[in-house]
Amino acid sequence: MSAIQQNVEAASASYSASFDKGHLALPPAKKYLVLTCMDARIDPARAFGIELGDAHVIRNAGASAVEGLRSIVISEQLLGTNEIVLVKHTGCGMLTFKNEDAYGIVEKNLGQAAVEELRERKIDFLPFPELEQAVKNDVEFLKASKLVPESVTISGWIYEVETGKTRRVV
Ligand SMILES: [Zn+2]
Repeated sequence: MSAIQQNVEAASASYSASFDKGHLALPPAKKYLVLTCMDARIDPARAFGIELGDAHVIRNAGASAVEGLRSIVISEQLLGTNEIVLVKHTGCGMLTFKNEDAYGIVEKNLGQAAVEELRERKIDFLPFPELEQAVKNDVEFLKASKLVPESVTISGWIYEVETGKTRRVV
Protein backbone atom coordinates (compact mmCIF):
# COMPACT_ATOMS: atom_id res chain seq x y z
CA MET A 1 0.00 0.00 0.00
CA SER A 2 1.30 3.47 -0.85
CA ALA A 3 1.99 6.07 1.84
CA ILE A 4 -0.99 8.03 0.56
CA GLN A 5 -3.26 4.98 0.93
CA GLN A 6 -1.96 4.34 4.44
CA ASN A 7 -2.75 7.95 5.28
CA VAL A 8 -6.36 7.46 4.12
CA GLU A 9 -6.73 4.40 6.33
CA ALA A 10 -5.25 6.15 9.37
CA ALA A 11 -7.39 9.25 8.85
CA SER A 12 -10.50 7.11 8.42
CA ALA A 13 -9.87 5.29 11.69
CA SER A 14 -9.53 8.46 13.73
CA TYR A 15 -12.27 10.46 11.90
CA SER A 16 -14.89 7.73 12.13
CA ALA A 17 -14.10 7.03 15.80
CA SER A 18 -15.81 10.27 16.84
CA PHE A 19 -18.10 10.73 13.81
CA ASP A 20 -21.65 11.73 14.75
CA LYS A 21 -23.01 13.30 11.54
CA GLY A 22 -24.51 10.21 9.94
CA HIS A 23 -28.00 11.70 10.16
CA LEU A 24 -27.38 14.58 7.74
CA ALA A 25 -29.76 14.91 4.79
CA LEU A 26 -28.59 14.71 1.16
CA PRO A 27 -29.65 18.26 0.10
CA PRO A 28 -27.36 20.98 1.51
CA ALA A 29 -29.02 22.41 4.65
CA LYS A 30 -28.15 26.04 3.84
CA LYS A 31 -29.09 25.67 0.15
CA TYR A 32 -25.94 27.11 -1.40
CA LEU A 33 -22.95 25.99 -3.37
CA VAL A 34 -19.35 27.11 -3.38
CA LEU A 35 -17.37 26.87 -6.60
CA THR A 36 -13.64 27.13 -6.01
CA CYS A 37 -10.29 25.99 -7.36
CA MET A 38 -8.72 22.59 -6.72
CA ASP A 39 -5.60 24.37 -5.44
CA ALA A 40 -4.12 22.43 -2.50
CA ARG A 41 -3.74 25.61 -0.43
CA ILE A 42 -7.49 26.25 -0.16
CA ASP A 43 -9.44 24.77 2.76
CA PRO A 44 -13.02 25.73 1.79
CA ALA A 45 -14.68 24.51 4.99
CA ARG A 46 -12.50 26.61 7.26
CA ALA A 47 -11.69 29.56 5.00
CA PHE A 48 -15.34 30.10 3.93
CA GLY A 49 -17.14 28.87 7.07
CA ILE A 50 -18.85 25.76 5.72
CA GLU A 51 -20.17 23.22 8.22
CA LEU A 52 -20.63 19.61 7.17
CA GLY A 53 -23.95 19.20 5.35
CA ASP A 54 -24.42 22.94 4.73
CA ALA A 55 -23.29 23.44 1.14
CA HIS A 56 -22.05 21.79 -2.03
CA VAL A 57 -18.39 22.45 -2.76
CA ILE A 58 -17.53 22.15 -6.45
CA ARG A 59 -13.84 22.24 -7.25
CA ASN A 60 -11.93 22.28 -10.50
CA ALA A 61 -8.81 23.87 -11.96
CA GLY A 62 -9.37 27.63 -11.77
CA ALA A 63 -12.89 27.53 -10.25
CA SER A 64 -14.25 27.56 -13.80
CA ALA A 65 -17.98 28.26 -14.02
CA VAL A 66 -17.97 26.83 -17.55
CA GLU A 67 -16.55 23.52 -16.38
CA GLY A 68 -18.62 23.61 -13.20
CA LEU A 69 -21.95 24.12 -14.97
CA ARG A 70 -22.93 20.43 -15.00
CA SER A 71 -22.51 20.17 -11.23
CA ILE A 72 -24.19 23.55 -10.68
CA VAL A 73 -27.33 22.42 -12.53
CA ILE A 74 -27.43 19.20 -10.51
CA SER A 75 -26.92 21.15 -7.28
CA GLU A 76 -29.69 23.66 -8.04
CA GLN A 77 -32.26 21.61 -9.94
CA LEU A 78 -31.96 18.23 -8.24
CA LEU A 79 -30.80 19.22 -4.77
CA GLY A 80 -32.38 22.61 -4.16
CA THR A 81 -29.51 25.09 -3.84
CA ASN A 82 -30.29 28.71 -4.72
CA GLU A 83 -27.09 30.67 -4.09
CA ILE A 84 -23.63 30.50 -5.71
CA VAL A 85 -20.42 31.68 -4.05
CA LEU A 86 -17.65 31.64 -6.67
CA VAL A 87 -14.11 31.91 -5.28
CA LYS A 88 -10.96 32.14 -7.41
CA HIS A 89 -7.60 32.85 -5.78
CA THR A 90 -4.27 34.63 -5.99
CA GLY A 91 -1.38 32.62 -7.37
CA CYS A 92 -3.68 30.39 -9.41
CA GLY A 93 -1.94 28.09 -11.87
CA MET A 94 -4.50 29.07 -14.49
CA LEU A 95 -2.84 32.50 -14.71
CA THR A 96 0.43 30.93 -15.86
CA PHE A 97 -0.26 29.31 -19.24
CA LYS A 98 -2.27 29.47 -22.45
CA ASN A 99 -4.26 26.72 -24.10
CA GLU A 100 -1.58 26.22 -26.74
CA ASP A 101 1.04 25.71 -23.97
CA ALA A 102 -1.05 22.97 -22.33
CA TYR A 103 -1.66 21.32 -25.70
CA GLY A 104 2.10 21.42 -26.33
CA ILE A 105 2.92 19.83 -22.97
CA VAL A 106 0.39 17.06 -23.53
CA GLU A 107 1.86 16.39 -26.95
CA LYS A 108 5.42 16.31 -25.57
CA ASN A 109 4.62 14.10 -22.57
CA LEU A 110 1.80 11.89 -23.85
CA GLY A 111 2.24 11.94 -27.61
CA GLN A 112 0.28 12.71 -30.75
CA ALA A 113 -2.64 10.37 -30.04
CA ALA A 114 -3.25 12.13 -26.72
CA VAL A 115 -3.30 15.59 -28.24
CA GLU A 116 -5.65 14.27 -30.93
CA GLU A 117 -7.98 13.17 -28.15
CA LEU A 118 -7.88 16.69 -26.68
CA ARG A 119 -8.94 18.05 -30.07
CA GLU A 120 -11.65 15.43 -30.56
CA ARG A 121 -13.07 16.20 -27.13
CA LYS A 122 -12.72 19.95 -27.82
CA ILE A 123 -11.01 20.39 -24.46
CA ASP A 124 -10.41 24.00 -23.50
CA PHE A 125 -8.15 24.24 -20.45
CA LEU A 126 -9.85 27.55 -19.63
CA PRO A 127 -6.81 29.52 -18.43
CA PHE A 128 -7.24 33.23 -17.70
CA PRO A 129 -4.74 36.12 -17.86
CA GLU A 130 -6.23 38.42 -15.18
CA LEU A 131 -7.76 37.33 -11.88
CA GLU A 132 -10.40 39.96 -11.06
CA GLN A 133 -11.62 40.03 -14.65
CA ALA A 134 -11.89 36.23 -14.63
CA VAL A 135 -14.11 36.38 -11.52
CA LYS A 136 -16.34 38.98 -13.18
CA ASN A 137 -16.47 37.00 -16.44
CA ASP A 138 -17.53 33.81 -14.67
CA VAL A 139 -20.23 35.59 -12.65
CA GLU A 140 -21.51 37.15 -15.90
CA PHE A 141 -21.44 33.74 -17.57
CA LEU A 142 -23.61 32.27 -14.80
CA LYS A 143 -26.02 35.21 -14.84
CA ALA A 144 -26.40 34.93 -18.61
CA SER A 145 -26.88 31.16 -18.60
CA LYS A 146 -30.44 29.94 -19.09
CA LEU A 147 -29.47 27.01 -16.87
CA VAL A 148 -29.14 29.32 -13.87
CA PRO A 149 -32.46 30.98 -12.97
CA GLU A 150 -32.54 34.70 -12.15
CA SER A 151 -33.70 33.89 -8.62
CA VAL A 152 -30.24 32.43 -7.82
CA THR A 153 -28.01 34.80 -5.83
CA ILE A 154 -24.47 34.93 -7.24
CA SER A 155 -21.34 36.54 -5.82
CA GLY A 156 -17.68 36.44 -6.90
CA TRP A 157 -14.70 36.47 -4.55
CA ILE A 158 -10.90 36.19 -4.41
CA TYR A 159 -9.15 34.10 -1.77
CA GLU A 160 -5.61 35.26 -0.98
CA VAL A 161 -3.31 32.28 -0.48
CA GLU A 162 -0.78 34.66 1.10
CA THR A 163 -3.06 35.93 3.90
CA GLY A 164 -5.96 33.47 4.16
CA LYS A 165 -8.38 36.36 3.52
CA THR A 166 -11.32 36.17 1.14
CA ARG A 167 -12.51 39.43 -0.41
CA ARG A 168 -15.56 40.14 -2.50
CA VAL A 169 -15.13 41.25 -6.13
CA VAL A 170 -18.70 41.30 -7.38
ZN1 LIG B 1 -6.20 27.77 -8.79
